[in-house]
Amino acid sequence: MKVIVASFQCESNSKANLHPQKSDFEYFAGWDIFKKLVVKNIFEDAGFEIIPSIYANALPSATVERHIYEYYKEQIMDTVRRNPDVDGIYIYVHGSMEVDEIGSGELQLVKEIRQIVSRECLIAFTMDLHANITNELGQYVDIICGYKTAPHTDQPESQVRAATALTYCLQNGIKPHTYVQKIPMLVKGDTMLTRQEPLRSLEAETVLLEERADIFGANLFFGHCWIDAPNTGASAVVSAADPDTARQIAKDLANKLWNTRKEYRFRIEAELPEECVRRAIAGEEKRIFITDSGDNTTAGAEGTSEDILKLFLNAGPGKKTCVAGITDLEIVETLWNKKDGETVFVEKLGCRGTIKAHGEILGWAKEIIGRSLTISFDNVDAVFTEKRSAFIEKGNFDKANVDLLEYEIVVVKLGYLFEELKPYADRELFALSDGASCVELARLNLQRIARPMYPLEDFEWIAQ
Ligand SMILES: [Zn+2]
Repeated sequence: MKVIVASFQCESNSKANLHPQKSDFEYFAGWDIFKKLVVKNIFEDAGFEIIPSIYANALPSATVERHIYEYYKEQIMDTVRRNPDVDGIYIYVHGSMEVDEIGSGELQLVKEIRQIVSRECLIAFTMDLHANITNELGQYVDIICGYKTAPHTDQPESQVRAATALTYCLQNGIKPHTYVQKIPMLVKGDTMLTRQEPLRSLEAETVLLEERADIFGANLFFGHCWIDAPNTGASAVVSAADPDTARQIAKDLANKLWNTRKEYRFRIEAELPEECVRRAIAGEEKRIFITDSGDNTTAGAEGTSEDILKLFLNAGPGKKTCVAGITDLEIVETLWNKKDGETVFVEKLGCRGTIKAHGEILGWAKEIIGRSLTISFDNVDAVFTEKRSAFIEKGNFDKANVDLLEYEIVVVKLGYLFEELKPYADRELFALSDGASCVELARLNLQRIARPMYPLEDFEWIAQ
């Protein structure tokens, strides 16, 4: 048996402006892809011949421009064209890659692959829980295994499940059927957490289903609300040996998820930015974090908003405050040659500050991607970065030469705080700010999504 292995991932955000460029993709080709993928042993142990293609993965960004998409897609297609007799293809994708003029990047990729390989060739996908699955995808992909955790902690396990199922089906001559049942709901991602009920039980049910010998993937996908496209929304997707089983279980899971739709709400303090700033200043905890969720750089936003910084500058807090990771090439470039301690006038903020620290910013793969400049405005320090950045752990502050432990209030451009920052946060405030990653569906003004769509409309629905 011969299997091709590849990965091409980028979560898109239609409201964002920064389209990913080649330099934004972490990229490996050939055997190096297994620095990032964990499925090599599975195919090796089965005695399969592995044909590694590419691994390309970028931080969530605006839609993917066509030429960038083609550049990576064609490399995978080259591998397929050189091996048209392949028995199986394993691809790790996100599932919410939106390509200009094309739509779903994953659907287009698999459609083109199917034009080359035979119907007997089995294709397996690992996908993110926030994938916007296209109805048609089930016609082209035989096995789909999505993450079962949000926040995501089971990416390796999800790769293993799909690769193991692919191996099993190839060895036993099984041709699975995948059924996609769309669910007309689009609940904000940050409220759907799998460690809490009702999702904990629902995900446990999918795990049990996958223990059956005839089911190769039982998935709930929550969808991704920041893409304005007809396939945006939740879905239940089941891959099984028998088409009726796949359809029946997918419909059953879909109804179960639909019936929980009203149970998702924030279980932390989620307030408008002004209220978050007020509460942070008045709060008695040692260190309070605010997440600027509308400008969440890990969700495709640019991180350029100074709104919360300005609220703090106006409030003049008596507490040491740090706003970390404001993307501003101009400030970094024009003030980089100033020395620490030097007084500068920051025109766009209309105020005087002191240069506090020169530093570096870490990229998604923890490589250094540019410079940061921290400026103090009395008690409020702002870390400006020349490129988009995500302050997800203490290491990001260290690299910027800023001491996280010095602050009583810290603002970062995230949705939920990453686990790595939680030990430093005695309290967490989720700011419902505007921006490309705004979590209020009604404020996103989506034009192309299917309607009706809960919670924009509430209505009766059943998958049958
Ligand atoms: Zn996700």
